[in-house]
Amino acid sequence: MHEMSHDQWESLCDGCGKCCRIQFLDDDDIMLMQTDVACRLLDTETLRCTDYHNRLSKVPDCVQITPDTIKENYWLPDSCSYKIVARGEDLPSWHHLVTGDRKSIHEEGHSLQGRLVSERDVHEEEVEERIIEWIAITD
Ligand code: SF4
Repeated sequence: MHEMSHDQWESLCDGCGKCCRIQFLDDDDIMLMQTDVACRLLDTETLRCTDYHNRLSKVPDCVQITPDTIKENYWLPDSCSYKIVARGEDLPSWHHLVTGDRKSIHEEGHSLQGRLVSERDVHEEEVEERIIEWIAITD
């Protein structure tokens, strides 16, 4: 993992869109509450960031995922391809590096395509009302 070039590392992202949802921590920091509201920069159809190179300056909460920090990123789903590689497991059969097609993940139903609404279309005060999943945080 640490021997990968920057481009090889970046290519691992499967584009599932699961990390680009607005998420909250509960008061005790033991539950992650996930909404179906996507970051305003995410294209909710393609699930690609519309301004990837400037995302960190435009969205203060956006996090750069690196080999050094992947194990600290508790808010990423276990299905995240970065986490899969960090666990030493093989990429799933639908991953674009296996199939050669970035649409495979959507066709196999492993992404959030068609299931998210953009932050741009939701009033700020209504975001917390759109929590759809509660995930226990484990080490
Ligand atoms: S959860 Fe992981 S694989 Fe999915 S979009 Fe986020 S970084 Fe990429």
